[in-house]
Amino acid sequence: MKVIVAKTAGFCFGVKRAVDQVYRQIEEGVKPIYTYGPIIHNEEVVRELADRGVRIIGDEEQLAGLTEGTVIIRSHGVAERVYRLIEERGLHIVDATCPFVKKIHRIVREHSGRGEEIVIIGNDGHPEVEGIKGWCLGRVTVIGSEEDARQFRHETGHRLCIVCQTTFNYKKFDKLVEIISEMSYDEMDILNTICSATEERQSEARGIAAKVDSMIVIGGSHSSNTRKLFEICQMECEHTYYIQTLKDLDIRLLPSRGCVGITAGASTPNNLIEEVSKQCLI
Ligand code: SF4
Repeated sequence: MKVIVAKTAGFCFGVKRAVDQVYRQIEEGVKPIYTYGPIIHNEEVVRELADRGVRIIGDEEQLAGLTEGTVIIRSHGVAERVYRLIEERGLHIVDATCPFVKKIHRIVREHSGRGEEIVIIGNDGHPEVEGIKGWCLGRVTVIGSEEDARQFRHETGHRLCIVCQTTFNYKKFDKLVEIISEMSYDEMDILNTICSATEERQSEARGIAAKVDSMIVIGGSHSSNTRKLFEICQMECEHTYYIQTLKDLDIRLLPSRGCVGITAGASTPNNLIEEVSKQCLI
């Protein structure tokens, strides 16, 4: 049995930066520490942080109830009003929004400020998308499927600005933009804001999945980038398995000979990737 582990598997730059910020606050003895949503989509890491006193705020209502402490904004970023709320409550803020996401906030603020209509290609309801929406000044539409793209009608006379969730499938992005372009006659700015880490991870996963007998994708159940990796790998390799932890790995499903590929979402710690890899070799 041969195992190929994707070089791009695991923590991306933005997630690593956000997780490091939480540990730094713990080491500096800051108390109480809150993260606005789980810092990453990995239950084990979140549990470990909870054991060290880091609490999670689920929404703006909970945030409004706080009277003291430090709030860490995770890599997904948040809407502008969340910053205002934190300031109004007199709380300390540590902003771990990934710079690639911050760039999208700046783009949509600038373009919507000029009266342009914004389209976000992404999954509606995803925290990153919700955050981006919260920086738009005018009309904003989220398009996540070909059906959404076909149904989309934009206000005539307004220039369109299309951006993309950083972890979106870039092939799907091209397809959705193509459909929107066919339906729209007004001028538009198309800004592919998928981050390079995502693009590299997806290309590598596709390449590995195309040549192995089985493919394992590791990541949290709520991780949208892991789900997209799974979709991509499944298209190339029929025996693709999505696991969250080592416990989910059913070694009997893997071939006794041949080659197994492994990739992982941006929130998957390296030690878990190594454990899965070792288990495949047993
Ligand atoms: Fe930043 Fe890209 Fe990682 Fe998202 S996937 S946190 S945009 S580096």
